Amino acid sequence: MERRESAQERAAELTERVSSVQTKTDDATARRDAATQQLDAEAAEVAKEREVVAGVIPADLLKLYDKLREKQGGVGAARLYQRKCEGCRLELDITEVNEVKAASPDTVLRCGNCSRILVRTAESGL
Ligand SMILES: [Zn+2]
Repeated sequence: MERRESAQERAAELTERVSSVQTKTDDATARRDAATQQLDAEAAEVAKEREVVAGVIPADLLKLYDKLREKQGGVGAARLYQRKCEGCRLELDITEVNEVKAASPDTVLRCGNCSRILVRTAESGL
């Protein structure tokens, strides 16, 4: 008799634990699904923004960018910051700096190390 009660108590405990784990699983699944939905929405928004920006970039430049982006792990252009390419983090040598300085603003410049398109800003250190 006592043994049966003990087994019943144990079974009730285990049932309760299974229920608790199921609740946690359901909660985690709901949070995962919400996060996935949010990321999908963000991705769609960014894709839309990219389409708008891509629409005003000359076709040949966009083609070059896409080619470099694919080759360089998703980053086809990098800011030139304080004479460093922010794509590969290497500093341009003095010859490259002089070439960048001499180039007209609409010239597409490339990093001599990683080949990414260099984006000049007021902080390029030129
Ligand atoms: Zn670089």
